[in-house]
Amino acid sequence: MIRVLRVFWLTFWLTCPACQRGRMFRSLFVMNVRCPVCNVIFERDKGEVTGGMAINSVLMCLIAIVGAVLSITTDIPTAPLLLSIGTFMAIFGILFYRHARSLWIGVLYLTGSINEDV
Ligand SMILES: [Zn+2]
Repeated sequence: MIRVLRVFWLTFWLTCPACQRGRMFRSLFVMNVRCPVCNVIFERDKGEVTGGMAINSVLMCLIAIVGAVLSITTDIPTAPLLLSIGTFMAIFGILFYRHARSLWIGVLYLTGSINEDV
C-alpha cells in the first residue's frame, strides 16, 4: 500500500515513478517520450493516452454531478451556477491534464507496463 501511495504521489507531481527524479513533461502540454534520467518509456502504446483522458473525464463528471446536486439542493440561480461550473470544468480540465496523464503512468507502472530494464 505504501508503494501505491508513493507512486501516485510521485506521478501527481509529474515525476517518473521508476527513478523518482525525472520530469515527465518537458513543457506545459508536451510529455517526454522517455524519462530524461532513467530512460524508461512512459507510454509504450499509442492508445495509452486515453487512460489519462479517462481519469480527467471521470473527475469532470464528478464536478458536473456536484454542480447538479448544488442546483437541486440550494437556492443558487441556475444560470450563474451552470456558467460557473462550466467555466471551472473547462479550466480544471486544462490544468489537470498533465496530472491525469501522469497518474495514468503511475497506474501503468504499478501494473508492470513500465519497467526500468527495457
Ligand atoms: Zn525515470
